[in-house]
Amino acid sequence: CGIVGYVGPAAASSRPLDVVMEGLGRLEYRGYDSAGIAIATPDGLVSAKKAGKLTNLTRELDERPLAEGTAAIGHTRWATHGAPTDVNAHPHLSGDGRLAVIHNGIIENFHALKSALVADGTQFHSETDTEVVAHLLAGAYDETGDLTEAMRQVVRRLEGAFTLLAVHADQPDTVVGARRNSPLVIGLGEGENFLGSDVSAFIAFTREAMEMGQDQVVTITGADVVVTDAAGTVVQPRRFTVDWSA
Ligand code: GLU
Repeated sequence: CGIVGYVGPAAASSRPLDVVMEGLGRLEYRGYDSAGIAIATPDGLVSAKKAGKLTNLTRELDERPLAEGTAAIGHTRWATHGAPTDVNAHPHLSGDGRLAVIHNGIIENFHALKSALVADGTQFHSETDTEVVAHLLAGAYDETGDLTEAMRQVVRRLEGAFTLLAVHADQPDTVVGARRNSPLVIGLGEGENFLGSDVSAFIAFTREAMEMGQDQVVTITGADVVVTDAAGTVVQPRRFTVDWSA
Protein backbone atom coordinates (compact mmCIF):
# COMPACT_ATOMS: atom_id res chain seq x y z
CA CYS A 1 0.00 0.00 0.00
CA GLY A 2 3.00 2.28 0.49
CA ILE A 3 6.37 2.22 -1.28
CA VAL A 4 9.70 3.97 -0.64
CA GLY A 5 12.98 3.67 -2.51
CA TYR A 6 16.30 5.41 -1.86
CA VAL A 7 19.84 5.51 -3.23
CA GLY A 8 22.56 7.65 -1.64
CA PRO A 9 26.30 8.19 -2.00
CA ALA A 10 28.42 5.10 -2.71
CA ALA A 11 29.76 4.74 0.85
CA ALA A 12 27.60 2.41 2.98
CA SER A 13 25.78 4.25 5.76
CA SER A 14 22.69 4.08 7.96
CA ARG A 15 20.92 6.70 5.79
CA PRO A 16 19.16 4.26 3.41
CA LEU A 17 17.51 2.57 6.40
CA ASP A 18 16.68 5.89 8.09
CA VAL A 19 15.17 7.40 4.93
CA VAL A 20 13.02 4.35 4.20
CA MET A 21 11.74 4.05 7.79
CA GLU A 22 10.89 7.78 7.85
CA GLY A 23 9.06 7.41 4.53
CA LEU A 24 7.12 4.34 5.67
CA GLY A 25 6.09 6.24 8.79
CA ARG A 26 4.73 9.08 6.67
CA LEU A 27 2.81 6.58 4.48
CA GLU A 28 1.13 4.94 7.49
CA TYR A 29 -1.98 7.08 7.00
CA ARG A 30 -2.85 4.98 3.92
CA GLY A 31 -3.45 1.90 6.09
CA TYR A 32 -1.51 -1.38 5.91
CA ASP A 33 -1.14 -4.77 7.58
CA SER A 34 2.60 -5.55 7.27
CA ALA A 35 5.89 -3.78 6.59
CA GLY A 36 9.33 -4.68 5.29
CA ILE A 37 12.66 -3.39 4.00
CA ALA A 38 15.58 -4.60 1.87
CA ILE A 39 19.00 -2.91 1.78
CA ALA A 40 21.74 -3.41 -0.80
CA THR A 41 25.06 -3.57 1.08
CA PRO A 42 28.63 -4.12 -0.17
CA ASP A 43 28.21 -7.76 0.94
CA GLY A 44 24.85 -8.51 -0.65
CA LEU A 45 21.22 -7.90 0.22
CA VAL A 46 19.82 -7.85 3.75
CA SER A 47 16.13 -7.67 4.57
CA ALA A 48 13.52 -7.76 7.32
CA LYS A 49 9.71 -7.94 7.26
CA LYS A 50 6.94 -8.23 9.82
CA ALA A 51 3.18 -8.52 9.90
CA GLY A 52 1.45 -5.82 11.93
CA LYS A 53 2.35 -2.24 12.67
CA LEU A 54 5.57 -0.53 11.67
CA THR A 55 6.63 -0.72 15.32
CA ASN A 56 6.87 -4.52 14.90
CA LEU A 57 9.41 -3.99 12.11
CA THR A 58 11.24 -1.36 14.17
CA ARG A 59 11.49 -3.80 17.08
CA GLU A 60 12.78 -6.54 14.75
CA LEU A 61 15.44 -4.13 13.40
CA ASP A 62 16.47 -3.21 16.98
CA GLU A 63 16.86 -6.88 17.89
CA ARG A 64 18.54 -7.90 14.62
CA PRO A 65 20.13 -4.79 13.07
CA LEU A 66 20.74 -4.88 9.32
CA ALA A 67 24.11 -4.09 7.73
CA GLU A 68 24.56 -0.56 6.36
CA GLY A 69 24.17 0.01 2.62
CA THR A 70 23.79 2.38 -0.29
CA ALA A 71 20.28 1.61 -1.57
CA ALA A 72 17.07 0.53 0.13
CA ILE A 73 13.43 -0.25 -0.64
CA GLY A 74 10.61 -0.29 1.90
CA HIS A 75 6.99 -1.44 1.77
CA THR A 76 3.76 -1.34 3.69
CA ARG A 77 1.36 -4.04 2.55
CA TRP A 78 -2.41 -4.15 2.20
CA ALA A 79 -2.85 -7.87 1.54
CA THR A 80 -4.83 -8.90 -1.53
CA HIS A 81 -3.35 -12.39 -2.16
CA GLY A 82 -2.27 -14.34 0.92
CA ALA A 83 -2.95 -13.60 4.60
CA PRO A 84 -1.08 -10.79 6.40
CA THR A 85 1.78 -12.93 7.74
CA ASP A 86 5.55 -12.37 8.08
CA VAL A 87 6.20 -14.68 5.11
CA ASN A 88 3.69 -12.91 2.83
CA ALA A 89 5.01 -9.46 3.78
CA HIS A 90 7.25 -7.77 1.23
CA PRO A 91 10.08 -7.71 0.12
CA HIS A 92 10.04 -11.00 -1.78
CA LEU A 93 13.41 -12.44 -2.72
CA SER A 94 14.69 -14.47 -5.67
CA GLY A 95 15.79 -18.06 -4.99
CA ASP A 96 19.45 -17.02 -4.62
CA GLY A 97 18.52 -14.14 -2.29
CA ARG A 98 20.36 -11.62 -4.50
CA LEU A 99 17.26 -9.78 -5.72
CA ALA A 100 14.41 -8.23 -3.73
CA VAL A 101 11.13 -6.80 -4.97
CA ILE A 102 8.23 -4.87 -3.42
CA HIS A 103 4.84 -4.34 -5.02
CA ASN A 104 1.66 -2.34 -4.58
CA GLY A 105 -1.34 -3.55 -6.56
CA ILE A 106 -2.40 -6.83 -8.12
CA ILE A 107 -0.75 -9.04 -10.77
CA GLU A 108 -3.90 -10.36 -12.47
CA ASN A 109 -2.16 -13.13 -14.44
CA PHE A 110 0.01 -14.43 -11.60
CA HIS A 111 -1.60 -17.89 -11.64
CA ALA A 112 -0.44 -18.64 -15.19
CA LEU A 113 3.01 -17.16 -14.53
CA LYS A 114 3.38 -19.11 -11.29
CA SER A 115 2.33 -22.43 -12.88
CA ALA A 116 5.00 -22.01 -15.56
CA LEU A 117 7.68 -21.17 -12.98
CA VAL A 118 6.69 -24.10 -10.73
CA ALA A 119 6.81 -26.44 -13.76
CA ASP A 120 10.38 -25.22 -14.31
CA GLY A 121 11.30 -26.09 -10.70
CA THR A 122 11.04 -22.67 -9.03
CA GLN A 123 10.23 -22.91 -5.32
CA PHE A 124 7.69 -20.45 -3.92
CA HIS A 125 7.66 -19.38 -0.28
CA SER A 126 4.64 -17.08 -0.08
CA GLU A 127 1.02 -17.04 -1.21
CA THR A 128 1.33 -13.61 -2.81
CA ASP A 129 0.85 -12.62 -6.43
CA THR A 130 4.03 -10.55 -5.99
CA GLU A 131 6.49 -13.42 -5.61
CA VAL A 132 6.23 -14.35 -9.32
CA VAL A 133 7.82 -10.97 -10.09
CA ALA A 134 10.88 -11.75 -7.93
CA HIS A 135 11.48 -15.02 -9.79
CA LEU A 136 10.76 -13.58 -13.25
CA LEU A 137 13.06 -10.63 -12.60
CA ALA A 138 15.87 -12.90 -11.38
CA GLY A 139 15.55 -15.00 -14.55
CA ALA A 140 15.53 -11.93 -16.81
CA TYR A 141 18.48 -10.46 -14.89
CA ASP A 142 20.49 -13.66 -15.37
CA GLU A 143 19.90 -13.38 -19.12
CA THR A 144 20.45 -9.63 -19.56
CA GLY A 145 22.86 -8.73 -16.72
CA ASP A 146 20.93 -5.47 -16.37
CA LEU A 147 18.21 -4.85 -13.80
CA THR A 148 16.53 -2.08 -15.82
CA GLU A 149 16.26 -4.18 -18.99
CA ALA A 150 15.10 -7.12 -16.85
CA MET A 151 12.33 -4.93 -15.39
CA ARG A 152 11.20 -3.80 -18.85
CA GLN A 153 11.05 -7.42 -20.05
CA VAL A 154 9.10 -8.61 -17.02
CA VAL A 155 6.62 -5.73 -17.03
CA ARG A 156 5.67 -6.66 -20.59
CA ARG A 157 4.55 -10.07 -19.25
CA LEU A 158 2.44 -8.69 -16.37
CA GLU A 159 -1.25 -7.84 -16.38
CA GLY A 160 -3.00 -5.75 -13.76
CA ALA A 161 -2.03 -2.83 -11.55
CA PHE A 162 1.40 -2.44 -10.07
CA THR A 163 4.03 -0.21 -8.65
CA LEU A 164 7.21 -2.28 -8.43
CA LEU A 165 10.64 -1.54 -6.97
CA ALA A 166 13.61 -3.90 -7.13
CA VAL A 167 17.21 -4.04 -5.92
CA HIS A 168 19.93 -6.51 -6.90
CA ALA A 169 23.10 -7.36 -4.97
CA ASP A 170 25.15 -6.96 -8.19
CA GLN A 171 24.03 -3.31 -8.53
CA PRO A 172 24.09 -2.10 -4.90
CA ASP A 173 23.88 1.57 -5.93
CA THR A 174 20.68 1.21 -7.98
CA VAL A 175 16.93 0.96 -7.43
CA VAL A 176 14.71 0.16 -10.43
CA GLY A 177 10.98 0.90 -10.47
CA ALA A 178 7.99 0.52 -12.77
CA ARG A 179 4.33 1.44 -12.73
CA ARG A 180 1.01 0.64 -14.41
CA ASN A 181 -2.40 1.77 -13.09
CA SER A 182 -0.73 2.50 -9.74
CA PRO A 183 1.28 5.60 -8.76
CA LEU A 184 5.05 6.14 -8.52
CA VAL A 185 6.83 9.48 -8.07
CA ILE A 186 10.51 10.37 -8.09
CA GLY A 187 12.18 12.64 -5.51
CA LEU A 188 15.32 14.51 -6.55
CA GLY A 189 18.03 15.09 -3.95
CA GLU A 190 21.67 16.15 -4.01
CA GLY A 191 23.84 13.06 -4.37
CA GLU A 192 20.76 11.00 -3.49
CA ASN A 193 17.43 10.18 -5.11
CA PHE A 194 14.10 8.84 -3.95
CA LEU A 195 11.06 6.91 -5.16
CA GLY A 196 7.65 6.84 -3.51
CA SER A 197 4.08 5.75 -4.02
CA ASP A 198 3.31 9.38 -3.18
CA VAL A 199 5.40 12.41 -2.28
CA SER A 200 4.91 11.85 1.47
CA ALA A 201 7.45 9.04 1.07
CA PHE A 202 10.28 11.58 0.65
CA ILE A 203 8.82 14.96 1.65
CA ALA A 204 11.06 15.03 4.74
CA PHE A 205 14.11 15.12 2.43
CA THR A 206 13.20 16.87 -0.83
CA ARG A 207 10.38 18.78 -2.49
CA GLU A 208 11.75 18.46 -6.01
CA ALA A 209 9.83 15.70 -7.74
CA MET A 210 8.96 14.08 -11.06
CA GLU A 211 5.84 12.21 -12.06
CA MET A 212 6.21 8.77 -13.68
CA GLY A 213 3.96 8.07 -16.67
CA GLN A 214 2.01 4.91 -17.36
CA ASP A 215 4.17 1.86 -18.22
CA GLN A 216 7.43 3.70 -17.60
CA VAL A 217 10.52 2.25 -15.94
CA VAL A 218 12.86 4.28 -13.75
CA THR A 219 16.43 3.66 -12.63
CA ILE A 220 17.86 5.76 -9.82
CA THR A 221 21.40 5.95 -8.48
CA GLY A 222 22.77 8.57 -6.08
CA ALA A 223 23.77 10.73 -9.05
CA ASP A 224 21.21 9.96 -11.75
CA VAL A 225 17.57 9.38 -12.61
CA VAL A 226 16.74 7.75 -15.95
CA VAL A 227 13.16 7.11 -17.07
CA THR A 228 12.30 5.06 -20.16
CA ASP A 229 9.12 3.83 -21.78
CA ALA A 230 8.39 0.11 -22.08
CA ALA A 231 10.49 -0.09 -25.27
CA GLY A 232 13.54 1.47 -23.61
CA THR A 233 13.33 4.95 -25.15
CA VAL A 234 14.37 7.67 -22.68
CA VAL A 235 11.52 10.00 -21.71
CA GLN A 236 11.48 13.31 -19.78
CA PRO A 237 8.89 13.15 -16.97
CA ARG A 238 7.08 16.29 -15.79
CA ARG A 239 8.98 18.01 -13.00
CA PHE A 240 7.25 19.79 -10.10
CA THR A 241 7.89 21.23 -6.66
CA VAL A 242 5.77 19.99 -3.78
CA ASP A 243 4.34 23.13 -2.20
CA TRP A 244 2.30 21.84 0.73
CA SER A 245 3.75 22.10 4.22
CA ALA A 246 4.67 18.84 5.93
N1 GLU B 1 -1.00 -7.91 -4.06
C1 GLU B 1 0.14 -7.77 -3.20
C2 GLU B 1 -0.01 -8.62 -1.95
O1 GLU B 1 -1.08 -9.03 -1.59
C3 GLU B 1 0.43 -6.31 -2.84
C4 GLU B 1 -0.65 -5.66 -1.98
C5 GLU B 1 -0.35 -4.18 -1.71
O2 GLU B 1 -0.69 -3.36 -2.57
O3 GLU B 1 0.18 -3.85 -0.65
O4 GLU B 1 0.94 -8.92 -1.32
